Amino acid sequence: MTVELADGTLPSRQHHQERALPRFDLSLSENPFPPLPSVLSAVNGVLAHANRYPEFLPLRLPKLIADHVGVHSDQVVVGSGATGVAMQIIQALTTPGAGIVYGSPTFDGYPIMAEMAALDVVPVPLDAGGNQDLPAIARAVDKRTGLVVVCRPHNPTGTVIPSRLLQTFLRAVPQRVPVILDEAYAEFLGRADQIDTVALLRRHPNLLVLRTFSKAYGLAGLRIGYVFGSRELISRVRRLQLPFGMSSAAVAAVAASYAAEPELAARIVRITAGREALRNALCLRGVAVPRSHANFLYLPGPGVATALRRAGIAGKSYPDGSARIAVGDPEADNAVLQALRPRGACNPIPEAS
Ligand code: PMP
Repeated sequence: MTVELADGTLPSRQHHQERALPRFDLSLSENPFPPLPSVLSAVNGVLAHANRYPEFLPLRLPKLIADHVGVHSDQVVVGSGATGVAMQIIQALTTPGAGIVYGSPTFDGYPIMAEMAALDVVPVPLDAGGNQDLPAIARAVDKRTGLVVVCRPHNPTGTVIPSRLLQTFLRAVPQRVPVILDEAYAEFLGRADQIDTVALLRRHPNLLVLRTFSKAYGLAGLRIGYVFGSRELISRVRRLQLPFGMSSAAVAAVAASYAAEPELAARIVRITAGREALRNALCLRGVAVPRSHANFLYLPGPGVATALRRAGIAGKSYPDGSARIAVGDPEADNAVLQALRPRGACNPIPEAS
């Protein structure tokens, strides 16, 4: 697989060299690899006709995705990244003043969109290991709750909810409350942690499975996300589909990406192998990094975000000084290691069981 540029550097690094500081921007959990040549060429082909509108309401893209996922196309809604789809879900299914319950901290988009929709945020703290506390989230659901969000893997810690706990949780949430299962990073999960969400959906029609092409597929700039769920819920979400809202490039990029699954899978292996190597090395330096199942690591503070920033590395920083960093660019991974000095032995962090 060829990923390096002619000068032997990873493209993301060259990009940042051109942009001056920071040397490495690891703050957005991006994929370090640029689009595959086959994806680029498919998108380029479509751009030659960019004087034409795309479909009025997207039909081809939901069909493509539905066939891939194993559901019917009337069970899929597409949008501007998982963020755009989540906003559409919020607007379609909640009313101002309703509660939104999620494990906190979470993906920044949720509190931002909750505020935009005048929802009442009910944040439930993560446990000491960075896991979403599902029993506490279930207990926080009451008659005012309009939406629940759980992430698998979770952002920012990369932890994964064991399948058994997720099932118990879904049985505990009343059917009238929609639950977003945010699988933005699901493609990074090892085989043992993958779950059959389509089967889960049959038992829980209030479930909405949210995914994106921004992370494992490496197409963050194209803004392609989707949700699948029961026909009833999805038809309500689809009512807010923006006319001409999805670019023609999206269909081409998704079709070409599905045709390139083996190459994309090889990239995922490189990213996750790099993640494990970096986590092990950081543990040896005394940074107690929770086991991540995504393309980022959460480095608990204090002082970590600052140490990285001083070394020219932008991470996503948290109030206690912790940082979340994207992984997968060997040079950036190495710079992170250099930036964090040894601090004694690593305390292993328990995983949810
Ligand atoms: N969900 C989670 C958990 C995320 O971390 C992100 C991006 N950081 C998103 C959704 C949104 O991704 P996008 O809008 O690029 O598809």
